Amino acid sequence: MRLILLGPPGSGKGTQAQRLVHRHGIVQLSTGEMLRAAVAAGTPVGLQAKEIMANGGLVPDEVVVGIIADRIEEPDAKKGFILDGFPRTVPQAEALDELLRKKHLKLDAVVELRVNESALLARVEKRAEETRARGEEVRLDDTPEVLTKRLAQYRSLTEPLIHYYSERRKLLTVDGMMTIEHVTREINRILTALGALEPKEHEEAKSASKASKTARKTTKAVKSAKKAAKPARKAAEAGRKAKAARKAAKKTAKQPAKKAVKKAAKQAARAANARKGAKAAKKTAKKLTKKRAKR
Ligand code: AMP
Repeated sequence: MRLILLGPPGSGKGTQAQRLVHRHGIVQLSTGEMLRAAVAAGTPVGLQAKEIMANGGLVPDEVVVGIIADRIEEPDAKKGFILDGFPRTVPQAEALDELLRKKHLKLDAVVELRVNESALLARVEKRAEETRARGEEVRLDDTPEVLTKRLAQYRSLTEPLIHYYSERRKLLTVDGMMTIEHVTREINRILTALGALEPKEHEEAKSASKASKTARKTTKAVKSAKKAAKPARKAAEAGRKAKAARKAAKKTAKQPAKKAVKKAAKQAARAANARKGAKAAKKTAKKLTKKRAKR
C-alpha cells in the first residue's frame, strides 16, 4: 500500500501515519522527521534546512525530492509506505509521480485530513506540552508565530495538491476533527473499500472482522441462552415468591393466635387479680363484720 497523508500542520498526519504503520506493517516516510534528524546530525542537508524550518518556510523541492527518492529505495519501503508531509508543493507531487512511474509503482490513495484552522493552534500547543512532559526537546516551529507562517505556506503551496490529486481521482477526504480512533477507523474503511490492503493485510483485516463476528455471535448466544433460561429463572423466582408467601401466611396465621393467647393470659391475670381482690375484699368485709358485731 502506498499512501499520502495530506493536511495542515497539527491535522494529525503523524499520529495517523504511526497507527497505520502499526496496523499494516508499512513504513512512515516523514520528510519533517528526516529533516529534523539531518539538522540534529549537522549534515549538509541539515545545515541548509535548519533556518528555513525554524522560520516555518519550505525546504527547496530538490532537497526533499532527493531525500524521498533515496528513502523509497530502502528495503523496508518495498512493501509499501505512508508519505507524511510530502509532497507539499505541486512540483514535489510531479516529481513523485515521475519517481513512482519509473519504478512501476502505483499510488493507492491520498487521504486529506480536513480540520478547522481554529483548532490547529490548540493542537500544536498540546503537542508541544506533551513533548515537554516526555522530557523531549520541543520543536522550534511549534509556536503560534511560526504556526501562522506554516499555515500560510500550506494554503498557498500545499492546498493546490487537493485539486491535483482530486483530478487524478486519488483524493479521499476524512473529517480530521473526529477523535483519533474515529479517523483511523475511517481511513481503514476507505483503504479496505479501495482494495488498497495487500492480500496478507486483507487477511488480517478479515480475521479481525471474523474475530469481532465471533464475539458478536458469542454475545448473541449468551443473550439467547439468557432468554432461554428466563422461564426457568421466572419459575424459580415464582417458587421463591410462593415459599415466601407461605411463610408470610403462616406468620400472619400465627399472629392472631399469639395475640389471642396473650389476650387470654391478660384476661386470666385480670380474673386472677379480681379473684384475689374479691377474696381480699371478702376477708376485709368479714373482718369489718366481726368488728361491728363486737361493738
Ligand atoms: P513537518 O514535520 O511535516 O511539519 O515539517 C516540518 C518542517 O520541515 C516544515 O515546516 C518544512 O520546513 C520542512 N519540510 C518538511 N517536509 C517538507 C517538504 N515536503 N517540503 C519542504 N519542506 C518540508
